[in-house]
Amino acid sequence: MMMIHIGIDDTDSPNGMCTTYVGALLYREISRLAHPIDLPRLIRLNPNVPYKTRGNGAVAMSFEADEKDISRIKELVLDMVKSLSDFSHENTNPGVVFLEGEVPKELTEFTYKAIWEHVSIEEAEKAAKEVGAEVHKFKIGRGIIGALASIGHPLDRFTYELLAYRGRELWGTKRRVNKESVFEMDKRFYPLTYDNVDWEKGSVLITPHGKDPVLVGIRGIDEKKVLSAFERIIFEEPVEFFQVFKTNQNTDDHLRFRRIGELKPLESAVVKGKVVKDWWEKGRHVFFELADETGKIRVAAFEPTKGFRRYVRELIEGDEIIAAGGVKEFEGVLTLNLEKFYPAKLAKKVEYKKPKCPKCGGTMKSKGDYLKCKKCGHKMPKTLIPIEVPRELKQKIYEVPPDARRHLSRPLVLPLGEERILEILKKS
Ligand code: ATP
Repeated sequence: MMMIHIGIDDTDSPNGMCTTYVGALLYREISRLAHPIDLPRLIRLNPNVPYKTRGNGAVAMSFEADEKDISRIKELVLDMVKSLSDFSHENTNPGVVFLEGEVPKELTEFTYKAIWEHVSIEEAEKAAKEVGAEVHKFKIGRGIIGALASIGHPLDRFTYELLAYRGRELWGTKRRVNKESVFEMDKRFYPLTYDNVDWEKGSVLITPHGKDPVLVGIRGIDEKKVLSAFERIIFEEPVEFFQVFKTNQNTDDHLRFRRIGELKPLESAVVKGKVVKDWWEKGRHVFFELADETGKIRVAAFEPTKGFRRYVRELIEGDEIIAAGGVKEFEGVLTLNLEKFYPAKLAKKVEYKKPKCPKCGGTMKSKGDYLKCKKCGHKMPKTLIPIEVPRELKQKIYEVPPDARRHLSRPLVLPLGEERILEILKKS
């Protein structure tokens, strides 16, 4: 018997398919020939890369197999990837990686490079060679990056996602899932399963919107609860089959501590800095500037983050905050796309008010550089009184709403939701 690890990626396009679907089918097929070691793994990589279809996910799985079956297993994988991938799309460049035996520890380094930075196809080929992995590229084969990285993920921290799929004849049609049953499910299982619905908007979050084969995805921190939650949903169309994946979703895997001066486009990071320019708004996006001793960056809370922007507008110059997000060029300026922030030290907020009339206690009116009482007409030089106003922000992490959340971002409601950010900071 020997161990074989399989990684696949980039089989899909916005016009259809989904790498998890190919992965789930493969897992079922291979499980007839070999013994699966654990569940299949859905690994989310750098959420900022431009090639991604949706969430930059790759799939890996491991089996204990008879040596004589290894070549059959590989053939099965390659045939299935060939027949199911959406080759018509220019941005679909599937990759398959096989690795036999134990997964070498060195591969973890490559995995985290693919989560934190941009990796080239050549780098993936080099890393594969170093660990003795076998790579198969289709078209330009960019998928080998994700395929290799997914095999190398140690998944010390993980969550689950149950993905249910629809029959091919329904792909591209409206998903028919009973809305009330999803709300009922959420009431019963949240937060052991989470991101099921948005109560404020009254919308269901477990159904995607594209032409892909996914009917619903239920996320949770307990495998049994995810399955029970799935059983409670009323489906108004047939479920072709479903599969539970172990995943690095919602683990904050993409966040690492960086100095502001080191930030590069396409990275994700946690930084600590001082607000050096108060917020301004453009096209419903809210921006401010943050600096540490190494540099300065523009920070953005974009329009889709909705109510989150309210808290960002509470920040003022001098506030010291911890901020997490992805780095991207926006309108030619390097910008940290905010996912979470933690006000570490709030500056004093002072507002200047006009004094009352010293003669009659009436209200004073500004007249250029002097004040005039509205009631008795008393005039005096304009001296304003500083008043400290209480700050609305608390010492807690503020996060974007569920539908604006990145797959990798950890919701605060989960255990360690706050600690992860503070832990990253402590390690720095
Ligand atoms: P889905 O989530 O539906 O599977 P997707 O969003 O994962 O779709 P893909 O079609 O898999 O999108 O495309 C992502 C591509 O980017 C893959 O080819 C993958 O190998 C590559 N990739 C992943 N991480 C990196 C990285 N850090 N640097 C460069 N390329 C990467």
